[in-house]
Amino acid sequence: MSRYFSEKFAALTPYTPGEQPKDMQYIKLNTNESPFPPPVAVVEAAKNEAAKAQLYSDPECSLLVEKAAEYFGVKKTELLFTNGSDEILNFAFMAFCDKNTPAVFPDITYGFYSVFADLHGIPYKKIPLKSDFSIDHKEYLNGNATVFIANPNAPTGLALTLKQIEEILRANPDNVVVIDEAYVDFGGESCVPLIHKYDNLLVTQTFSKSRSLAGARLGVGIASESLIADLNTIKYSTNPYNVNRMTMAAGYAALCNQEYFDEKCKEICENREYTAIELKKLGFEVLDSKTNFLFVRSDKIGGKELYEKLKEKGVLVRHFTAPRIAEFNRVTIGTKRQMEICIQKIKEILEKQL
Ligand code: PMP
Repeated sequence: MSRYFSEKFAALTPYTPGEQPKDMQYIKLNTNESPFPPPVAVVEAAKNEAAKAQLYSDPECSLLVEKAAEYFGVKKTELLFTNGSDEILNFAFMAFCDKNTPAVFPDITYGFYSVFADLHGIPYKKIPLKSDFSIDHKEYLNGNATVFIANPNAPTGLALTLKQIEEILRANPDNVVVIDEAYVDFGGESCVPLIHKYDNLLVTQTFSKSRSLAGARLGVGIASESLIADLNTIKYSTNPYNVNRMTMAAGYAALCNQEYFDEKCKEICENREYTAIELKKLGFEVLDSKTNFLFVRSDKIGGKELYEKLKEKGVLVRHFTAPRIAEFNRVTIGTKRQMEICIQKIKEILEKQL
């Protein structure tokens, strides 16, 4: 730390992204990316825009917003596109939390929530997951705080029902409830239609997972017109050109090619079921995932040891050190072939344990 660094950030622990190794070619099952590249039409759209990169991007994302409004069944004024969904989440912390309105989220969830809260000096409370790692939705009723819930949750993969989310929304009429749907396209139920029923609901989604655009950075917030107006105030006070031209065009083309992504999501769900069955055969506990990853543990091998041994064998999964989940690993679902190799390597590791 330099002597110039502001005191207010001195104690900040930044988010630790998953490894992006350059030393060798891994089967990369550690950051919940799609194993499938975007279709040619999406790549071409981005390439064409690159030729106009001397011009600023459209701060209103007009074409993309128009297409997305059609896709999500909402008004154009009920949408805001951002640089990944991390940015819309950051905006939500800035817009809807402060010293008097703390944030509340599960103890085990997306690690960025506490980082954003710390960054903005927002007090927060972490509510423990139940012993089966599900979210205890009753704990979020009448809390007088801004609620952040990933649904399905990460890294557990477990989802709340829309009925449970509606209970939370009804019990918090004076607070914003943010539902982070980063993984919703892999079997979850989206609460986007509820934005017309609850003006305190903000839904966030990403193009990083189900639409193969993690490296392009595109996220979206969907909410009542007034919440989106607040979020726009934050956007235009930080970075009006937050979505670059290439990404904007890629996002538009992605929405025009939704069948491709639906097909790929289906394939990932099939590969997830295959992997879950194979891991259960090997004695693993596998949480019931509605996402593109599985959260798994074995009583035959520790979480960290399995992560390290898989890495030695060229398969990268994600291990978290938080005590409650240290025995688990989060395994992103890749192609069938990648999952077959992953299972094979786990078998080899377990055989050596005997
Ligand atoms: N929410 C959750 C629950 C996530 O796991 C992630 C991905 N790390 C994000 C949001 C952010 O994704 P992105 O910024 O790529 O849209």
